[in-house]
Amino acid sequence: AKEKGKNCYQVFDESMHAEIILKVNLENEMRQALKADQFTLYYQPQYNTPDKSIYGMEALLRWDSPSIDQGAPLDIIKAAEETGMIVDIEKWVMKNAFTFAREINAIADKDIKISVNISPVHIMQSDFVGNVWNSIIEAGVDPGFIGLEITETVMMESFASNKKKLEEIKKLGINIYLDDFGSGYSSLNYLQNLPIDYVKIDKIFVDNMLNSDRDGRITATIVELAHNIGLKVIAEGVEREEQYNFLNLYKCDIIQGYYMSKPVPRGEVLKLLKFTTNN
Ligand code: C2E
Ligand code: CA
Ligand code: CA
Ligand code: CA
Repeated sequence: AKEKGKNCYQVFDESMHAEIILKVNLENEMRQALKADQFTLYYQPQYNTPDKSIYGMEALLRWDSPSIDQGAPLDIIKAAEETGMIVDIEKWVMKNAFTFAREINAIADKDIKISVNISPVHIMQSDFVGNVWNSIIEAGVDPGFIGLEITETVMMESFASNKKKLEEIKKLGINIYLDDFGSGYSSLNYLQNLPIDYVKIDKIFVDNMLNSDRDGRITATIVELAHNIGLKVIAEGVEREEQYNFLNLYKCDIIQGYYMSKPVPRGEVLKLLKFTTNN
């Protein structure tokens, strides 16, 4: 038994070692990728529910790496969080998305909001608010066009100091979206205590809301609750017409999902906007 235990230990050591090497490699790959412009952003349009006119879009990170098996964006984000590269990557994301926000708002005949996802790891950094503001200034964009999507996990650590940072962000005129609402803990507490403008109902609720009367009522109640405290509601992962009809019936403000559009490269966004603005 003792011998077996010893073997296990060795295996563990080796895999730890391999993991560290992998991480260092990945960090280098990411640093190179930032320099070589291998990251790109896709944009997924969001639509006003009643008339399906465009409301805004969410920027989503993609990595065109020739050498690395890309994996899902979520895995890239996780790896970037573990190596600490997430801060530089999100500065890049903000610079690009905010610049695009300025450009499209110059050509569109109505306001188009653009939101970016922000990692809790980034929010915890002391220079987080400065990074956001620098990106706004560099891009020369009206902060009212910009939104930051945060998740409930943001608040699990350092609630008070994160809350203060979000309040500063909000004072700068930037919108705050509570992402993946309903998938985490203490959701009501966050709705009540954070300076939020938008609630994004998690895809899990949208998936289930037509399967049971109970789940449907929960979704309808979330919309009503959010409206009662002055927030707008976005439903994520809307894939089917019946889901759209349900969300429209219960006055969900904005929809996002494959039913209307997948995330698309910026060229497609421009086509799409020309189309909707009739230019
Ligand atoms: P998220 O913020 O919840 O983004 C929505 C995800 O759902 C996107 O996946 C989008 O492509 C996908 N989606 C949208 N509509 C539908 C639909 O109708 N059906 C289905 N099945 N999926 C739909 P994506 O692009 O793979 O991104 C995954 C996650 O990666 C995002 O989830 C977000 O948490 C994270 N992420 C992406 N970019 C960034 C970033 O710049 N920073 C940070 N921190 N996280 C990011
Ligand atoms: Ca999001
Ligand atoms: Ca989400
Ligand atoms: Ca999600």
